[in-house]
Amino acid sequence: MLLIGPPGSGKGTQASRLKQWLGIPAVSTGEMFRLEIEKKTELGLEAEKVISQGRLVDDLLVQKMLETRLSDPDCRRGFLLDGYPRTVAQAVFLSQFLAKTGRPEPLVLHIDVPADLLIQRMSARRSCPLCGRIYNLLNSAPSKADLCDDDGSMLLHREDDRGEVIRERLEAYETWTRPVVEHYAGGSYYKINGNRAPAEVFASIVESVNIHRVQLQTK
Ligand SMILES: [Zn+2]
Repeated sequence: MLLIGPPGSGKGTQASRLKQWLGIPAVSTGEMFRLEIEKKTELGLEAEKVISQGRLVDDLLVQKMLETRLSDPDCRRGFLLDGYPRTVAQAVFLSQFLAKTGRPEPLVLHIDVPADLLIQRMSARRSCPLCGRIYNLLNSAPSKADLCDDDGSMLLHREDDRGEVIRERLEAYETWTRPVVEHYAGGSYYKINGNRAPAEVFASIVESVNIHRVQLQTK
């Protein structure tokens, strides 16, 4: 199962709900990297070297890590991939890996939110530098303006929650997502309207997963 969604779409929340509901691991490339580096595996050391030199980890290394991770016993019943594939080449690799390990093509869930709305949402985000709590002036504002409810610290408007940076991130996302989405459009692809309360978004996801299950059974 793949979960695709722009930054600020609430993808993280939906991933953790899905993980809980289905009892499958949510695998993100970031987490995969951290684990391999922590465990000081051969792949981890290689990645660490590349990252410390300020270079991007290449596709081949990511593929090797992914193959290792997805071969773990907890992925046997299925898994949720978060933030991968980012390119059509990666999608092709994933299909080959799935076929090789006797698995079906992925169910693709695409959480869609219009860009202007995302910019609004993310610009309204404030975070506490002390406890890390996140506020949103639109729907979860602190009771005293600019102060954390828990510890009274002055809230911060993070650099990457500012308009210009958000626009850049969204553009980068659009650039990589569009071809990947087009690649999957003919398969089990579901576009979910992400411009709703998290519970409603999750209800649509559950519905799509159930439709997909029936389709798999009747194949
Ligand atoms: Zn705080």
